[in-house]
Amino acid sequence: MALIVHKYGGTSMGSTERIKNVAKRVAKWHDAGHQIVVVPSAMSGETNRIIGLAKEISAQPDPRELDMIASTGEQVSVGLLAIALQAIGKQAVSYAGWQVAIKTDSAHTKARIASIDEAKVKADLDAGKIVIITGFQGVDELGNITTLGRGGSDTSAVAVAAALKAQECLIYTDVDGVYTTDPRVVSDARRLNTVTFEEMLEMASLGSKVLQIRSVEFAGNYRMPTRVLSSLTDPLIPLEEEANSGTLISFEEDTHMEQATITGIAFNRDEAKITVLGVPDRPGIAYQILGPVADANIEVDMIIQNQSVEGKTDFTFTVPRGEYTKAMDVLESSVKAHIGAGSIVGDSKVSKVSVVGVGMRSHVGIASQMFRTLSEEGINIQMISTSEIKISVLIDEKYMELAVRSLHKAFGLESA
Ligand code: ADP
Ligand code: ASP
Ligand code: MG
Repeated sequence: MALIVHKYGGTSMGSTERIKNVAKRVAKWHDAGHQIVVVPSAMSGETNRIIGLAKEISAQPDPRELDMIASTGEQVSVGLLAIALQAIGKQAVSYAGWQVAIKTDSAHTKARIASIDEAKVKADLDAGKIVIITGFQGVDELGNITTLGRGGSDTSAVAVAAALKAQECLIYTDVDGVYTTDPRVVSDARRLNTVTFEEMLEMASLGSKVLQIRSVEFAGNYRMPTRVLSSLTDPLIPLEEEANSGTLISFEEDTHMEQATITGIAFNRDEAKITVLGVPDRPGIAYQILGPVADANIEVDMIIQNQSVEGKTDFTFTVPRGEYTKAMDVLESSVKAHIGAGSIVGDSKVSKVSVVGVGMRSHVGIASQMFRTLSEEGINIQMISTSEIKISVLIDEKYMELAVRSLHKAFGLESA
């Protein structure tokens, strides 16, 4: 007997029919003698619908109130799943995040989990119940409902698994694992049996939204075995088969020693580029530009500062597209005049494409192969950034899919 956490995403919970299938699958695991905690997302489209309502009323809704409503989608899901399990003869109980409690900081819409009280859940499990806990939401010290950022149910699930010292966290979704790239963009993308924790962390942070990045961080910090697998198979397939399907995040360093140098291609459409022209080249200038941007709670990603000519340089960086206007406002209002810069220009139609692989450490020539492939397609590279196991380029968004497909092919990632 093991304690196992299941997470079901929006598509998996997308209709009452699908919820009944989730109940059958969960019941199968429980019947096999396991203790099961389920962390579902809101039904697909529901979180967008609710947030959309708030945005019809205000362009910038108060984040606390947004959390109050955005969290409700998951509350419907847990109740429906409990009812579906009870309807097939299982004892099940659902809890909202604050009832468990999943305690977070107060950063509304992007809260971080601080602690999880596991006593109540353990008692229910020991009493033979299946416990269902809302994904995505928590509660801060003052009792306010918080949410963990879009896609946050993954993080709830892995955090709950860590708190309960579960044997495994199974992330059921609408694809049957982690692929070499998003199978919606490259139809012959290949499913990976395992992906190293480091690669998954890079892929998630570079835009592969199959797992929210914080869930991967939790998996790493607690060494929680985490598997991504399909919720769309027949719920009654043999448990053994299901338990070994999908993609396991591995903590072994040498998994890929004999394999390709590149494991996957990630992309992010959600980018915008800002250039401050004619910046005086003197100590402290990067801080004077980026300090106010950070103070406005805007995350900066890629950064380039050019060689200076006659004491002046250009400074370019990227921000999430949704923060572009705010970042431009900050620069225009509090940076430009203060540092004596020329003008500020920007482009919100850029995308980032990255190749990721631990094999890069021991192979040379990956960057040149990447750049050759892009040049053969006539794609101009606007910015480059690298780490030990990834190379990212910023390009015009209209070439993003072409870039992903041609790189996927050039690195031989397609399925056989
Ligand atoms: P859920 O609602 O189950 O959380 P998500 O939509 O958040 O599901 O994540 C699953 C989706 O992630 C897939 O449908 C797929 O389009 C996308 N995706 C992006 N990159 C990858 C990848 N490398 N491998 C698999 N899926 C990916
Ligand atoms: N329902 C939330 C969202 O749509 C959380 C999740 O699905 O993981 O972002
Ligand atoms: Mg998701």
